[in-house]
Amino acid sequence: MKKPHKIETIVTHTGTNPRAHKGVVNPPVYHASTITFESYAHLSGKLPTPYQYGRRGTDGDRYLRDSINALECAAESLLAPSGLLAINMILMAHARSGVHFLISDNCYQPVRHFCDVVLTKFGVKIDYFNPMDSEAFAKKFKPETEFVWFESPGTMTFEVCDLPKLVSIVKNNRGVKCGIDNTWSGGMFLKPLNMGVDYSAQAGTKYIVGHSDVMLGTIACRTMEDYNFLFAFHYAHGAHTAPDDIYLAHRGLRTIAVRMQYQQTAALKIAQFLAKHKRVKRVLHPALPSCEGHEFWARDFSGSSGLFSFILKEECNDEQMGKILDNMDYFAMGYSWGGYESLMIPGKFTRTQSQWNEKGQMFRLNIGLEAVDDLIEDLDRALKRAFA
Ligand SMILES: *Cc1c(COP(=O)(O)O)cnc(C)c1O
Repeated sequence: MKKPHKIETIVTHTGTNPRAHKGVVNPPVYHASTITFESYAHLSGKLPTPYQYGRRGTDGDRYLRDSINALECAAESLLAPSGLLAINMILMAHARSGVHFLISDNCYQPVRHFCDVVLTKFGVKIDYFNPMDSEAFAKKFKPETEFVWFESPGTMTFEVCDLPKLVSIVKNNRGVKCGIDNTWSGGMFLKPLNMGVDYSAQAGTKYIVGHSDVMLGTIACRTMEDYNFLFAFHYAHGAHTAPDDIYLAHRGLRTIAVRMQYQQTAALKIAQFLAKHKRVKRVLHPALPSCEGHEFWARDFSGSSGLFSFILKEECNDEQMGKILDNMDYFAMGYSWGGYESLMIPGKFTRTQSQWNEKGQMFRLNIGLEAVDDLIEDLDRALKRAFA
């Protein structure tokens, strides 16, 4: 079969082999701890066996990884039981007492927590950098710098960094490896491994799964060398992802292209509605010029997803927050995102490397699969309620 290159075909035609499974289209789900061996020659490794023990995963794991490899343009990939563990596993594999890590100041908050609380305990020196200042970034490298972690667009604030430039700075420092949180793009709209990033991790929980139920993480590796390095650590660690979760993630991935195309269009319409709203000061959506790093998004990304923030001209007191958030018809309050239902939470984040002195109440929206007009009217009513 010709190897597909277009994303819609990739997600439908990879990670499936009906002929190997009695014609069944979807890969089988094996609930396996024990895997028995045909003969002593198989057990002792003289003859090959596809699987040896449940913890290493079986068919479902293999097929989903084939799809992730195609999606992320990876040499090979690994799965994890959550997005956070996928990221933390990459960081831990590079951690050693005395080494220095550079972590993007706008990273997902629990990653920051893991660095500050766990990695520092094991003697890793954690240093945050402002991803929008490449000169300052270049100056942060030390002889003991071992690893750099990126996230773009940034959590809550959605600024997009000049990733190729930052990666070239990493590569000027011999031996330093880097990785990125690619959850926002779902692997659909950004191919970090093609830009020289060594690891691209996703909270598959969000767009890959897409249905607000399963939690899963993916780690895509640029080279087999990077994969082998990480695999040894992953296996030693005992990280195992449940077969039913793998099955549902793969099922979600089949429709990621249509879901994200819809969410892209819907989110853009809603972002443009908000940008013109008299109560709104600024919309933080990478595809809008009002978002920092919009030019890098336009150059490096092939589309945008359904998650963005906006800032009101005024601050909201608790009463106004209640008036807005407690009375939404369609936007529920919930962390997580990437599912089929729309969500809205107040924007909250930590930064230590850059000043955020923008006044006004911030909200983050996850745009789901509802009718766009219903969502726009819901938001319009909310802003009228708060400022009536
Ligand atoms: C949700 C999220 C994660 C963590 O994924 P879990 O599956 O919830 O552990 C990591 N990065 C980003 C950007 C996320 O939004």
